Amino acid sequence: MKFRTIKGTKDILPEETAGWQNVESVIRRVMRNFNYQEIRTPTFEQTGLFARSIGELTDIVSKEMYTFLDRSEESITLRPEGTAATLRAYIQNNLGEQSPLTKVYYIGPMFRQERPQAGRLRQFHQFGAEALGASSPQLDVEMMVLPLEIYKQLGIDHFSLKINSVGCEKCRPAYKQLLQTELRKIFTQLSHDSQVRVEQNPLRVLDSKDKKDRELTAGMPLMNEHLCEECTVHFASVRSLLDALNIPYEVDGRLVRGLDYYTKTAFEITSTALGSQDALAGGGRYDLLVEELGGKQTPGVGFAAGIERLLIVLSKLNENKIASSAPVIFFVGLDETARIWTFLKTNELRRQGTCAEVDYLGRSVKSQMREANRQQAQYVIVVGEQELKTKTAKLKNMHTGEETAVSLEKIEIPS
Ligand code: AMP
Repeated sequence: MKFRTIKGTKDILPEETAGWQNVESVIRRVMRNFNYQEIRTPTFEQTGLFARSIGELTDIVSKEMYTFLDRSEESITLRPEGTAATLRAYIQNNLGEQSPLTKVYYIGPMFRQERPQAGRLRQFHQFGAEALGASSPQLDVEMMVLPLEIYKQLGIDHFSLKINSVGCEKCRPAYKQLLQTELRKIFTQLSHDSQVRVEQNPLRVLDSKDKKDRELTAGMPLMNEHLCEECTVHFASVRSLLDALNIPYEVDGRLVRGLDYYTKTAFEITSTALGSQDALAGGGRYDLLVEELGGKQTPGVGFAAGIERLLIVLSKLNENKIASSAPVIFFVGLDETARIWTFLKTNELRRQGTCAEVDYLGRSVKSQMREANRQQAQYVIVVGEQELKTKTAKLKNMHTGEETAVSLEKIEIPS
């Protein structure tokens, strides 16, 4: 019986991890510069946390969550996204009392039982950030700048940023009614999914990916044309800050996003280098969510971005060229005494901070040289009886073929 990965999950193999580590280090560096601190929450939580925050009627909660009863009959869910757990941790640990504004980021696996396809997995990875405690539009823009800066530093500049305002508890109810009245007129022609949404969550009908739904709803009133004064001012500030930062964007009045908790700003970043699953990142403001989850009234804003999709874009652009992880020195031992000596020396160099390697398979000299080549070692030192007696050997530069004498007591690598 051969075991295999579960559908929609993937191994990240040794040849790929250098690319992941590079992306992660850029994320951490940019987050550090923007003064965000990392938070690590458990990968599973009480089911109610997600149902309550993401919304019972969303695709994520109604169709995609990995939910099961554990041995004590508690309903557990593998986290489908990072915001709910971050806010749970914020409330549980009273982070709001320690500082008026909490800025945190996360990197980690998320789980959704979606239909797997290119760029869509069941275990995937996201990085994201949340800023809790301020309603300033500057933070909405910071949430857009953060992923864009990470993409830029990784060499991606072909993306598009779409923004919208989905209003607030003051202006949304009246607009919802207006939209519902319009949608009821074309109810029977809508797709099944959209029909279900007309009564429960009509805004999402506008965001439908179904072509016919989109044609039918083309002239419908949009939320951003029915904002209250406060939301209008907020949305105008977001746009003027983006203008001031010279960040191109498009206002998309149909953009709603698949999570119910957004208020005011919602945004999405897509890449032309991706196929049908072209969303790289999304986010928005959620001023009611902390309270909804049992905390004090606290405004918040955040974003989440997929790492697998980012890596797809990088591979298409042939970016993410990373420093080689090949050994600096590969020792070739000519006899048993030399093999033991090279093993001990390798350990000494490693402890001093040099990546060194040695043969463990008792191979012939020729095979050891071939292995050094395969691993793309920068230098090779061949050690035998003669070298151990004179305490000197030849350091061979594997790129140029040049050989220089080195003292075996103090091996100095040319810089
Ligand atoms: P969301 O949490 O749905 O707003 O998703 C944010 C980002 O996570 C998306 O823009 C994608 O880049 C990524 N993402 C979401 N779902 C998946 C998935 N099933 N597989 C791979 N990446 C995903």
